[in-house]
Amino acid sequence: MPMKWWGWGEEDETFPLPDPEGFWTYVHNRLGETGESPRIDSLARADVRPSRLEGRDAEAIRRAAGDGAFVTEAPVRALHSFGKGYCDVVRLRRGEVANPTDAVVWPDTEEQVAAILDAAAERGIAVVPFGGGTSVVGGLEAAPDRPSVTLHLGRLNRVVAVDPVANIAVVQAGILGPALEQQLNAHGLTLGHFPQSFQYSSLGGWIATRSGGQKSTLYGKIEERVHSLRLVHPGGSLSTPEVPAAAAGPDLNQLVTGSEGVLGVITRATMRLAPQPERRDYRGYVFPGFVEGIEACRQLVRCELRPAVLRLSDEPETEVTLAMRAPSSVQPGAPPVHASLLILGFEGNEREVGWGWEQAEAILGRHGAQTLGSGPGEAWERSRYDGPYLRDLLLDHAIMADTLETATTWGHYLDLYHAVRQAMVAAIGERGIVMAHLSHSYTDGGSIYYTFLAAQEQGNELGQWQRVKSAATQAIVEHGGALSHHHGIGRDHRPWMAAYVGRGGARALLALKQAFDPRGIMNPGKLLPAPEEAAVE
Ligand SMILES: Cc1cc2nc3c(=O)[nH]c(=O)nc-3n(C[C@H](O)[C@H](O)[C@H](O)COP(=O)(O)OP(=O)(O)OC[C@H]3O[C@@H](n4cnc5c(N)ncnc54)[C@H](O)[C@@H]3O)c2cc1C
Repeated sequence: MPMKWWGWGEEDETFPLPDPEGFWTYVHNRLGETGESPRIDSLARADVRPSRLEGRDAEAIRRAAGDGAFVTEAPVRALHSFGKGYCDVVRLRRGEVANPTDAVVWPDTEEQVAAILDAAAERGIAVVPFGGGTSVVGGLEAAPDRPSVTLHLGRLNRVVAVDPVANIAVVQAGILGPALEQQLNAHGLTLGHFPQSFQYSSLGGWIATRSGGQKSTLYGKIEERVHSLRLVHPGGSLSTPEVPAAAAGPDLNQLVTGSEGVLGVITRATMRLAPQPERRDYRGYVFPGFVEGIEACRQLVRCELRPAVLRLSDEPETEVTLAMRAPSSVQPGAPPVHASLLILGFEGNEREVGWGWEQAEAILGRHGAQTLGSGPGEAWERSRYDGPYLRDLLLDHAIMADTLETATTWGHYLDLYHAVRQAMVAAIGERGIVMAHLSHSYTDGGSIYYTFLAAQEQGNELGQWQRVKSAATQAIVEHGGALSHHHGIGRDHRPWMAAYVGRGGARALLALKQAFDPRGIMNPGKLLPAPEEAAVE
């Protein structure tokens, strides 16, 4: 079933609030009254300019696509001009498509992908690769200044071969999470990659954005699972060597992972797999506060423990979690929650899981954690893909709801956490909610994932969002955090990219662009700093 055009999930799916009345009382108590959130009743009503791809240009792309579909109908173009970030959904709901793509193509083969890129390069037409369409950083916007074609990978969606001796599989890039996992599970294997967007995002999109799954502390981010890959670019292709490791210059896989469609199209990848776990065991704990919890998490990963799930909410997020599950405990008059909720889970065989708990419980006990048993862990597992449905519900009530993320080393973790939080609170105003959690941990540091909520400023919804986003991103860069830990750069973080990578980094990235895409047709306006930002002074 296709996703609903105005939000997340299928048409009749919604977020199951256990106590809606209690939850909305809590929300309005915190955010104040909220207004109306208008939505057009059909995408056919969206304001979409005619396709700029005409005559011979259109014919050349259509011919290159061969049997693959080539579509220029306005609603299809509208839908494929956005990702699923807050601003995307707000604009689509209003039917505002200021910069639609001019055509969508669905190639069936890698040869067709190559032919489309070559035809586009010859004619100066921009190409935007489209996997699952779940970008939250403006990664799928059409080129504003020239005709633009969106290249949908959805038909390149096969598991080509599974090698159970090496535990690797060759997979086409357009496959979505559930279809991929199902086919790997049939061989007793898993990729172990479960982003919250799992149901609708694609392997190619994960690799192109260096995605992080909910179990990355055990399985690693997606770039760690790439064994080799193929990139089709204008005028050629790159197939990286199929070896487990090499000392043959810089790692070509890592030049392509995170390239966000600006170098070419990832058409297939060979992925490292793991055996499916025999046992999964997730439990809840509560700490006196976020500070104590962070120290415990740091010690857990520093002693080489690899939990599948290590998710620590700060105090505000713990309170909102309670408001969703047991609203009566956080209604007006109830004291603010001063506790930090941890979901910790191990998976693997019996011995691995048992050893994990033995080590972890000793560390948790030393930091004042109290056990809540398996209930919260099971609830987290059941609801781990539900967040985006709640965003739709909040949007229906004219509430801005979005997330952003970064990462840093343990020594700087709490300073960065507070600095970004303060910047966001100042930008959002008194009646907003800013909350955060740690969900991806490494021996040297961890991620920080913020969620922010406020009543929408009617008529200034996008300006309001930009104010919070800019304040947070500026604080991240000034305090040495990762410009993005797993969402990518896209269009939204691009203004900070030159400051983040420095002039040397910017020059290296632009040289790579020149090598793969000298005509500059691939996903213009994303990821890469502008040439003037890379110039030597
Ligand atoms: C509700 C929600 C939850 C999310 N949760 C997570 C999460 O837990 N972890 C996480 O990492 N991200 C998350 N994201 C962000 C998003 O899902 C990821 O960035 C994901 O990797 C994008 O995959 P996709 O297939 O949807 O790519 P798309 O959105 O289609 O594309 C993303 C970018 O990659 C490029 N691209 C796509 N496919 C290819 C290809 N084959 N070759 C070259 N370039 C390509 C596109 O041009 C674009 O720039 C979430 C997003 C939403 C909306």
